[in-house]
Amino acid sequence: MTQEELFKVLVAHCKEYGFIFPSSEIYDGLAAVYDYGQMGVELKNNIKSYWWNAMTRLNENIVGIDSCIFMHPRIWEASGHVAAFNDPLIDNKDSKKRYRADVLIEDFLGKIEEKIEKEVAKGRKKFGENFDEEQFRATNPNVQRELKKYNEVHEAYKAAENANDLAAYKQIIVDNNIVCPISGTCNWTDVRQFNLMFKTSMGSTDDTANTIYLRPETAQGIFVNYLNVQKTGRMKLPFGIAQIGKAFRNEIVARQFIFRMREFEQMEMQFFIKPGTELQWFAKWKENRMKWHVNLGMGAENYRFHDHEKLAHYANAATDVEFKFPFGFKELEGIHSRTNFDLGNHQKYSGKKIQYFDPESGESYTPYVVETSIGVDRMVLAVLSHSYKEEQLENGESRVVLSIPAPLAPVKAAVLPLLKNNEELTNLAQKIMDDLKYDFNCQYDEKDSIGKRYRRQDAIGTPFCITVDHESLEDNCVTVRDRDTMEQQRVPIAEIRALIDKKVNLNNLLRNL
Ligand code: ATP
Repeated sequence: MTQEELFKVLVAHCKEYGFIFPSSEIYDGLAAVYDYGQMGVELKNNIKSYWWNAMTRLNENIVGIDSCIFMHPRIWEASGHVAAFNDPLIDNKDSKKRYRADVLIEDFLGKIEEKIEKEVAKGRKKFGENFDEEQFRATNPNVQRELKKYNEVHEAYKAAENANDLAAYKQIIVDNNIVCPISGTCNWTDVRQFNLMFKTSMGSTDDTANTIYLRPETAQGIFVNYLNVQKTGRMKLPFGIAQIGKAFRNEIVARQFIFRMREFEQMEMQFFIKPGTELQWFAKWKENRMKWHVNLGMGAENYRFHDHEKLAHYANAATDVEFKFPFGFKELEGIHSRTNFDLGNHQKYSGKKIQYFDPESGESYTPYVVETSIGVDRMVLAVLSHSYKEEQLENGESRVVLSIPAPLAPVKAAVLPLLKNNEELTNLAQKIMDDLKYDFNCQYDEKDSIGKRYRRQDAIGTPFCITVDHESLEDNCVTVRDRDTMEQQRVPIAEIRALIDKKVNLNNLLRNL
């Protein structure tokens, strides 16, 4: 199965098993908006707990807040979003499809990179043990030709980006014959700027209404509460404020499932520090955040940093944590050193003093900020796409399993009486269920054969299946089946809780950080 096919299968699986549904589906859906179903919401909540606890419980100097989506419209002027939260937009005149010009160019560059890697792989195969990769890259004419092309396009792209030159974006697209994937033509409109913020109005009548924006990031809610939290919490620098909440962006390209949504959720943390210490803290947060990701056990090789070449005028360092999604390495999280841009501007626009008095040095200053910002939905997609597996079993059968890291799994254990019409078995199973439900999210299932029930639990990623059979009535033991190894063991009923807890308790993950 190609990665593209795998992605389609995953989207269908998410719907079939109650993880993610297209929004307003009975009305044919709403582009780039998705709802979480009964399984999806559990997975999402577990991811949020892992993040929230890692931030606020494990760091004495990080506290959380929950600010509103609606905020004073001046906030978005101060933050620069009204003037500059734009994407370069381009339409194909034949397919009438809309694209981001920068994404078209980046995808084109990605294809050149792929070609180079294919050439290198061919060389490796041909020369075997004697393969000298460095020399091959430096001398192979095909690699050299592609590399030259890459560098030329890349340079022109960076120049266009830095100068915000919309005509130059179009020129690159035309010069390289970058075509629309739908129509296959290069018949493009000019590139235009498009502001990504959604507007609405507040007030009882239209003439007194104020234009307000749905927040495109949660961070500004933290900045405008900096003074409140610092004073009421008697916080001393360095300290952080964390927040999880909805954000809205009128994205131009809306074709990547929950990777790019118009309504999504962010987990952001702003870390306030003394000016001059920002690069140290930036390095520290890079390390911390990568550790948080790798700790889930989804393979360190599936993550990488992508340091930004173009920095926003207020930032002095920025990187993305990229994850290997089925469509390639893409941004999962952003880590930015934002200087005092936001607090400084809010001070200017609001006229309120936003300063920190440093008791050690005796001076007052506007703190600098390092932020970490991750999309909850992208994290859900990372977990699901990594976990989805179609396995061929030794007995010739196959199974679909979601090997979700156990502490994040929506259902931790399924309790299954062997027979549904045997009251003794169902009573005991129900008793076990009633006992476990205070500690874990469990499912009771008595329908269909045991084999079918195992498959259903595999498909939603349940780490344990507990089967109650006739022997259980006598020996007070049950059969516990492990999702990943499919091994079964007899376990005394009194020991099930500890067995499950060892594998699924979020605190064990947190302890490894
Ligand atoms: P991209 O370049 O992919 O548009 P971005 O650089 O604009 O992302 P940030 O503004 O840094 O993203 O937002 C922080 C995080 O929020 C991202 O790393 C991502 O996980 C998440 N995010 C941003 N936009 C979306 C979206 N439209 N849908 C889902 N998650 C998003």
